[in-house]
Amino acid sequence: MEARFSDPHYVSQTSSSTNLSNAAGRRALIVGAGPAGLRAAVEMCLLRCDKIVVLEKRNTFNRVNVMRIHTKDMDELVHQLGARDFYRKICVQDRDVVAIRRMQIVFMKMALCLGAEIIPQAELAGIEPDKDTPYWTARTTTSTPHDLKCNTLVLAGGEKSKLSSDFGFSRTSFRAGVATGITCNFVPSHSPAAADAMQGGVVSYLSAPFFNSLKEKGLDLENLASYITEESHYLVMTPKRSTLLNKGIVKEDRADPVELVQRDNVDRDNLLKFAREVATMAGVPPDSEFLQTTSSKGGPPRPDVAIFDFTGKTCATEPSKAITSTFTPPGSNTRHPKTLLVALVGDALVEPFWPMGTGWARAVGSCKALGDCLRELGPDPLKWGERVEAVLKAHAEQYIVLKSESYAPMTNVMGSS
Ligand SMILES: Cc1cc2nc3c(=O)[nH]c(=O)nc-3n(C[C@H](O)[C@H](O)[C@H](O)COP(=O)(O)OP(=O)(O)OC[C@H]3O[C@@H](n4cnc5c(N)ncnc54)[C@H](O)[C@@H]3O)c2cc1C
Repeated sequence: MEARFSDPHYVSQTSSSTNLSNAAGRRALIVGAGPAGLRAAVEMCLLRCDKIVVLEKRNTFNRVNVMRIHTKDMDELVHQLGARDFYRKICVQDRDVVAIRRMQIVFMKMALCLGAEIIPQAELAGIEPDKDTPYWTARTTTSTPHDLKCNTLVLAGGEKSKLSSDFGFSRTSFRAGVATGITCNFVPSHSPAAADAMQGGVVSYLSAPFFNSLKEKGLDLENLASYITEESHYLVMTPKRSTLLNKGIVKEDRADPVELVQRDNVDRDNLLKFAREVATMAGVPPDSEFLQTTSSKGGPPRPDVAIFDFTGKTCATEPSKAITSTFTPPGSNTRHPKTLLVALVGDALVEPFWPMGTGWARAVGSCKALGDCLRELGPDPLKWGERVEAVLKAHAEQYIVLKSESYAPMTNVMGSS
């Protein structure tokens, strides 16, 4: 981390503006402390932004699901950012996989060490330009006062977030591949029986004997991955539509894959029974309990088993925009122009087809592209207006490359179906 912090790429961004009277610093407000929002906070700390605040609506990091990560991103994480200094066992058994909450904790620690502030249980309630300062001031849903003046607003609320449309970003849809996913988490067992459990992923066309044995029990899957971490024994699988129907997991056949797995069409008891059957075949000890989880919306804890469609995806049509306004510095009669940079990162920018590992890859890519954007705008925000059009154009071009970058299918995770 120290080496990265001293890299000339970042050192050259040290602002001289804080020494000047009436000058503006670079102040970023990031909405969402998911892996992407926290990675963006670290990038902005490295870029020597003067103030970085992250708002997070939840009060805990409880997502034990596991992310498979491409080798180059794992290399950055471990060797360039020094993630192991923050959590030695970040990779599950030295594989390229990290539990989502671990990623959040590691990046939260990095961001805090570098000077960012993180405010839990806080959502963005609004943002207005100050009349007499070069900043915009945000309001949150918390009653505690915080200094939320900024000139960079990063929207990192994830794929379900409405923030991008609130700020006028339009979105287009794309099809990532037809698939229904089921995830489940068990309390990890370190018993001798668990030592034989499957670790890693298998796909049907590469592991025919295993998938045939599942099929004989009516468990027809495209692929299956299973990882034991400190906090859970995690399984993710893509069952075929026929399996969902035959096992009574869905009540009626609906053509639209999103409608098929709507809450009202899912029989939760059968879903749990199915998850248990598959898990047993994958070596999860039969006496392992399901982990209990609570939704971000609250409610009583329940077994951590989820079914969802990941066929249809959306992405923003542009990664950033500039909002302009004016301010009158105290003691002056002249109005000065000012710019608010609004940018999207992570799943809020482009929803991932995560079996291909694009979630983390694009989170990192979008945070670095945002970093480039800030570098090009320069350390003095009062001069951003002169360059912003060209910088946003370059950012949009980078985004096209990011979206079209092809990723080698991670066949030992979920296959390329
Ligand atoms: C089951 C599953 C398996 C996956 N597997 C992989 C994988 O193998 N490889 C991979 O690369 N990717 C995987 N992904 C995708 C990966 O998890 C995401 O791409 C990654 O977490 C980056 O997400 P994010 O930070 O953009 O959004 P999120 O992780 O969704 O985080 C958004 C955060 O913003 C907060 N938030 C939302 N709205 C507001 C608001 N208004 N105010 C304040 N806070 C707000 C949320 O509480 C949340 O903490 C998987 C995803 C799932 C669901």
